[in-house]
Amino acid sequence: MPGDVVKFRTVGIDVGGTNIKIAALWNGGGVISAESIPTRAERGPVDAAERILVTIRALLQREGIDPGGMHAVGMDCAGIVDPERNVVIDSPNLRSWENDPLAQRLADRLGVPVYLENDVNAMAYGEWRCGAGRGADHIVCLTLGTGVGGGLILDGRLYRGAHGAAGELGHTTLDLRGASCTCPNIGCLERHVGAAYIVERTLRHLQESAAPSRLRDLEPQDMAPRDLTLAADAGDPVAAAVLRETGELLGKGLVSFVNIFNPERIVVGGGITKAGDRLLEPARQIVRRHAMSLPASMVEIVPAELGDDAAVVGATLLALEQHPTRG
Ligand SMILES: [Zn+2]
Repeated sequence: MPGDVVKFRTVGIDVGGTNIKIAALWNGGGVISAESIPTRAERGPVDAAERILVTIRALLQREGIDPGGMHAVGMDCAGIVDPERNVVIDSPNLRSWENDPLAQRLADRLGVPVYLENDVNAMAYGEWRCGAGRGADHIVCLTLGTGVGGGLILDGRLYRGAHGAAGELGHTTLDLRGASCTCPNIGCLERHVGAAYIVERTLRHLQESAAPSRLRDLEPQDMAPRDLTLAADAGDPVAAAVLRETGELLGKGLVSFVNIFNPERIVVGGGITKAGDRLLEPARQIVRRHAMSLPASMVEIVPAELGDDAAVVGATLLALEQHPTRG
């Protein structure tokens, strides 16, 4: 955002399957404060809209923000978003919200435009403008969680594809004989580095290895990727081996992205990136070894910087960009 633009405040809405985060932000992307309310997806978007409005109004009052000065509000959610109609059209976690004019309903009540964006696109945009992607024009953004999502900034623009469905990087094939994925494919990257599959591989390592490990004290159903980071930091050899292997599997996915997009930077987000170089250095080594030599030698592979704020920051900046400041 150019420095001569007047600073003003607005709000952003990040709709997740479990919680909705509502943040007050500066137009440059800085989060002032945020509130979280349960999504209660099963009650539908009309119920959610009322609760979002109550929370926004309380936030505006608390922060002393004039609703008329917000210019635009950004909102993001999981699923394919139709930017023309400003609605989500395919969202497994929010089925009853599909084709619902939630953004328009909020806009009518708030008196400012509300723009909807896919959550990982918003995250990529946030990291590009305010986080680990700053200053680059070609970025691949990947987020590792329950699923593995992707977002693309190509030639200095968010790339959505012909129908808003681009960037499903987690569903790149790694193994032609691999297990079924949640998508119609088999052996996807997500099937290897999604949280449940990291835990699955950890349990296999524990079974096959006689090495002592504090991970053996955990019940399998309670195990999460963050336990690997904590254990590895405490010198646990099994945790370190699983993280190294996860980094290598991630790297095998990144090889394709480096060859296809020739990005300046790959930004990797999600809880497991707290493992830092234990995860990313093996990925870098695989990329250097297996991707085309020129793009492989130039690409930077870095952790995301904005954490859970990336999507709400990106959605807000996208909204303000689509609706330029008046005057
Ligand atoms: Zn898949």
